[in-house]
Amino acid sequence: MAKQPMLKFVTVSRDMPTKRAAEERSHDFAEIYADYAAAKAAEQAARCSQCGVPYCQSHCPLHNNIPDWLNLTATNRLEEAYQVSQSTNTFPEICGRICPQDRLCEGNCVIEQAGHGTVTIGAVEKYITDTAWEQGWVKPIAPPVERDQSVGIIGAGPGGLAAADMLRRAGVQVTVYDRNDRAGGLMTYGIPGFKLEKEVVMRRIDQLEQSGVEFVMNCAVGEDLSFDAIRGKHDAVLIATGVYKSRDLGGPGSGAQGIVKAIDYLTASNRVANFGDRVAEFESGELNASGKRVVVIGGGDTAMDCLRTAIRQGALSVKCLYRRDRANMPGSQREVANAEEEGVDFVWLSAPVAFSGDPVSGVTVQKMRLGAPDVSGRQAPEVIEGSGYVEDADLVIKALGFEPEDLPLLWGYDGLEVTRWGTIRAEYGSGKTNLDGVYAVGDIVRGASLVVWAIRDGRDSAEAILGYLDGTAAIAAQ
Ligand SMILES: Cc1cc2nc3c(=O)[nH]c(=O)nc-3n(C[C@H](O)[C@H](O)[C@H](O)COP(=O)(O)OP(=O)(O)OC[C@H]3O[C@@H](n4cnc5c(N)ncnc54)[C@H](O)[C@@H]3O)c2cc1C
Ligand code: SF4
Repeated sequence: MAKQPMLKFVTVSRDMPTKRAAEERSHDFAEIYADYAAAKAAEQAARCSQCGVPYCQSHCPLHNNIPDWLNLTATNRLEEAYQVSQSTNTFPEICGRICPQDRLCEGNCVIEQAGHGTVTIGAVEKYITDTAWEQGWVKPIAPPVERDQSVGIIGAGPGGLAAADMLRRAGVQVTVYDRNDRAGGLMTYGIPGFKLEKEVVMRRIDQLEQSGVEFVMNCAVGEDLSFDAIRGKHDAVLIATGVYKSRDLGGPGSGAQGIVKAIDYLTASNRVANFGDRVAEFESGELNASGKRVVVIGGGDTAMDCLRTAIRQGALSVKCLYRRDRANMPGSQREVANAEEEGVDFVWLSAPVAFSGDPVSGVTVQKMRLGAPDVSGRQAPEVIEGSGYVEDADLVIKALGFEPEDLPLLWGYDGLEVTRWGTIRAEYGSGKTNLDGVYAVGDIVRGASLVVWAIRDGRDSAEAILGYLDGTAAIAAQ
């Protein structure tokens, strides 16, 4: 009888790929985890208990067939593992790197619940598809038949690209419009290289180009090209424009020089560190933390990315101000731990109330305590009177989250229905908007969310668009 390859969690401990030492990694923008060697990936995949009710799968937004590809990896059937993995996920190697697995698949792994330590699902997913790239198993899409219908996609982030991939597979002609010079959305210019190296994103863009997807870059819809023109040109349109309006911070002195938005800071860093672009605001020092005392305001993942970027740029000191405590912060605990290892100082229960100097030289901070839970069940922060003090700062980065831009206003198109939060009103599961043949996906529908959810939306919406195109083709043929 064949030896049981799985259920090794009893004898084999959880082992992530090696993390580079903080002193080494905090000077560069390369990813912090090394790759699994083949034997290690097989060993870790074999820890899966192949339980009858895989909660990892139900808590993965893409419902990836995780137990199946773990089994195939454990038995060295990697090409099949890749085929299974890519059948539900357009960019498995990207999700393997940047999904908050502790809140999704791995956090719900049955052996984790039983106290054995989760299977390292994300790291194995990354390993499978990185290997597929190395081995040449990832190929440009060659649709069996070409259709003469076309879809215009506005936004080249994960939502738009996942839909582009699915539509091309069905032979649809796809044009992606984006106001940036490079595709990838926040995967390219938001998320830093130490979490997601840019070659990983760019090879996917190349693959889509080789598959026949047309990219029209440096094209801001609403400015360079009207929404109406795109609707007139294509049989259906998908809006995947993300959310880019930074939440702001008031208070005396908040307009001073040296107080900057997280997205501007991260975009400049990504351009310079990962693409070698020349960015005037970086060269002038405005968006460069080198030699500065940096204060980042916010407790989410964007704040963590800013803090860790400032460390790598050679800041004198890097502090994070957050008005709640560690247990109540929205950012991933894994990222907080990484930031602490790299030298970030977290100042919990602290809220900025004013800024001194222009250029900025200090932040007046008010200490907080957590009061009674509010209607959402979260403890509301309350001011501790008389506790104010000044935190020295030469660069203050506001990382308080993002909201949608006013698309109907920007596009001069008030027929497109939005919610009271400014997100596009779209049908759950299809992304259908109130306009005929117009769909929407990703952050512009959900509000700031995750790459894996944008992929899920893009794939679902592509299915719905194919149904719509079939319907319009049938009517035209009558
Ligand atoms: C700093 C940061 C770190 C993050 N880290 C993670 C992480 O670790 N893991 C994770 O899962 N998620 C992370 N996220 C969230 C994730 O990046 C987003 O949820 C995801 O990228 C949303 O995908 P999208 O396709 O909806 O939009 P986006 O990725 O935002 O792409 C939208 C695209 O539309 C384009 N666009 C916008 N308006 C127009 C217009 N008028 N005309 C033409 N083009 C337009 C933009 O240029 C952009 O390229 C992070 C976000 C930020 C800001
Ligand atoms: S896509 Fe994300 S949530 Fe799903 S299995 Fe991969 S890492 Fe886990």
